[in-house]
This record gives sequence, structure tokens and C-alpha cells, in this order.
Amino acid sequence: MKYIGPHVSASGGVENAPLNAAAVGANAFALFTKNQRQWVSAPLTAKSIELFKENCKKGLFEPEFILPHDSYLINLGNPDDEAQQKSRAAFIDEMKRCEQLGLKMLNFHPGSHLNKVSVEQCLDSIAANINLALSMTEGVTAVIENTAGQGSNVGNRLEELRYLIDRIDDKSRVGVCIDTCHIYSAGYDIVAGYDAVFEEFERVVGFEYLKAIHLNDTKKPLASRVDRHDNVGIGLLGIDFFKRFMKDSRFDNMPIILETPDETRWAEEIALLRSFE
Ligand SMILES: [Zn+2]
Ligand SMILES: [Zn+2]
Repeated sequence: MKYIGPHVSASGGVENAPLNAAAVGANAFALFTKNQRQWVSAPLTAKSIELFKENCKKGLFEPEFILPHDSYLINLGNPDDEAQQKSRAAFIDEMKRCEQLGLKMLNFHPGSHLNKVSVEQCLDSIAANINLALSMTEGVTAVIENTAGQGSNVGNRLEELRYLIDRIDDKSRVGVCIDTCHIYSAGYDIVAGYDAVFEEFERVVGFEYLKAIHLNDTKKPLASRVDRHDNVGIGLLGIDFFKRFMKDSRFDNMPIILETPDETRWAEEIALLRSFE
């Protein structure tokens, strides 16, 4: 079975996210558990946590199919010590918020080397910070998202995701999220070479580590390394890619999140995707 839903707004409190997801016919969703553009947010209140859990139950959303995303400010591979320390603290806070909400995963972009250190050095810092965050929390899996490789972002090559996994002490609490827009922009042709790319994914990373999908179309060409999402079927991936994806059982039983730009289409996109199952 496929679990699909958008990255919904949590404006007014995290408890509103499951209501927003239910309104578009989702059975999965993503959210920010704090303001994604600020370093510090007020702690979650007991009331907010209780209402979040209650609204998830009412909307029949299981924690396994809810994928919180961390703040865009966090860079666990920041070459500057002080800046990295700030990111580390914010990341641990995000993991703890997930724990409080009874959630099982935290999805994040690995980081950026800012042209000051090598890709390997950057990845080593990221792995060390993930290990630290895992040691300070319980029950939340660190879900690393592949990137388009825009700017100095690391994590655009599957080998880099593998490099990180290899350095995580607790393999039961690390996984990856494939963003279909990012993987195409990074140069993996999931349109003309669908089978070959996912065979390569199996060989390099392994489907046992695949915990989630960001299902986006893309406005930018193959290997452009530019991250511009498009709505389902109208970008360069095209509708046939989505038809094929929906019939592929390797993507069953994990959150499939839409981060498509026009949110007025979300209900329609979910219904369309369901018609391909
Ligand atoms: Zn994404
Ligand atoms: Zn993106």
C-alpha cells in the first residue's frame, strides 16, 4: 500500500498539520515541528503535543507515515566550528521534538562544505553529528535526503549517502529519503533509465535503508544540479514516471511526500496518483 501526502503547514501549532493533511485526502504527511527559518523556537507545549497525537489518531495517520523535516538553517557539515555547534544543538532539539510528538523519523539535508573543506571532511562532520544526536535521543531514525548538489551541498551522489551510513554506529536508526526531483537534477535519469537507477540504488545504498520518498516533478534538466520542484506530471519527469512509480511495490509502506509548489493541486495530485495504483 502507498502512503501519500504533502508537506503541510503547521502554522498556529503542530496540531494543525494532521488537520491540513486530512483536508486533502492524505494518508501520510510531512511538517516542520518548529519555524524552519529561525534558530530557536518555543518548546512544544504539553497541550500542543496532546492535540497533535489526538488529531493524528482522528485522521488515521500512523507515526510511521509522518515525516518531519528539519530547519533549512541547519548545516551539520559546516566547516566553521561555532556554526557547526549551533547546527548540532538545533538538530538535537529537532530530534527531541520528534521524540516528544511520538514520531519515528527526522528527515534532513546532509549539509554543505561551503567550499572550505573537502566533501569527505564535510561528510565526516555530518556523520559525527548524527551519531551524537542518536546517542542523545531514543526511537527516532535519522533520515538523510539526497540533494540536487546545488551550490556546495553534499549528498547528491548515492556513494555519499552510503559513505554516511557506513559511519553511523547504530545502523537501525539511519536511513535515506529519495527526492525524485533532486535525484534527476543530480544526474540520475529516472525517466529514461528508471530500472538502471534503482538497481544502482540497491547496489550502492540498499532498499533496506530507504525510509521515505519526496515525490516531486522537476523544472530543471537532468544533471543541472538545480533544485526546482514542479507539480506532478507537468515537469520534466512527466506523467509516465509517476505511473510507473505508483505500481512499484519497492515504495510501499513508507511516507511518500509531495513538496510540489502549487498547493491548490494537492488533493487532485493525490487522487491522480491513487488512480495509477
Ligand atoms: Zn525534498
Ligand atoms: Zn528540493
